[in-house]
Amino acid sequence: MVKPKYKRVILKLSGEALGGEKGFGIDWQVVETICEEIEKVRELGVEVAIVVGGGNFFRGRSAEHIDRATADYMGMLATVINSLALQSILEKRGIPTRVQSAIEMRQIAEPYIRRRAIRHLEKGRVVIFACGTGNPFFSTDTAAALRAAEIDAEAILLAKKVDGVYDSDPKKNPNAKKYDFITYLDVINQRLEVMDSTATSMCMDNEIPIVVFELAKGNILKAVMGENIGTIVNVKEAK
Ligand code: UDP
Repeated sequence: MVKPKYKRVILKLSGEALGGEKGFGIDWQVVETICEEIEKVRELGVEVAIVVGGGNFFRGRSAEHIDRATADYMGMLATVINSLALQSILEKRGIPTRVQSAIEMRQIAEPYIRRRAIRHLEKGRVVIFACGTGNPFFSTDTAAALRAAEIDAEAILLAKKVDGVYDSDPKKNPNAKKYDFITYLDVINQRLEVMDSTATSMCMDNEIPIVVFELAKGNILKAVMGENIGTIVNVKEAK
């Protein structure tokens, strides 16, 4: 049997991805497809933790009428809606799942407890981390980097709407070049839109590889198997 490349991963799903074509609200078909793939990944014995964004409902930095910190808390609450949606569909497929929230809301989710999260993963449960880092002025990308470091994940699978990292925006520049591999420093120095710089530096400092790929059918599985489907961000290219 072919072995997966990673034993424990963080899957970062943006809220926008869950919104499907519209990018807003929840496209249940998209959620079903994602969960179907998570099931396959789990069957390979890979431990999966998910960090989900909230941009399909609310993004702190785009709010105009209220202060940034409050807007960010609203954004974090949006991630809870997405987490519960994912949990429900995963459990409908018979996959045991726990939502852990960085902001306590005991009636809805467990509080984030690192050791407990690791235990859930070891028992084969999918753990969904809600509310990002729990702090305003951060992003769910940073939450993915932080949780990956905390739980010793071997990689962050960054599912996006584009199929990798380009030297310029492929939607605007038809000659944009896609990288198979790029270093964290190049991402930061060239201000490439992979993750925000806080999240990228955190991955760099902890040497957590980021696998950037398009959230299309079959790709989460391919990413876990180490297939060359998008761009790998790391310190140096693995031989
Ligand atoms: N957010 C925050 N702190 C965190 C994570 C998220 O304040 O640690 C807020 C922030 O307002 C952000 C929103 O939650 O805009 C939704 O998260 P994000 O924009 O990262 O979601 P995505 O773009 O991945 O859907």
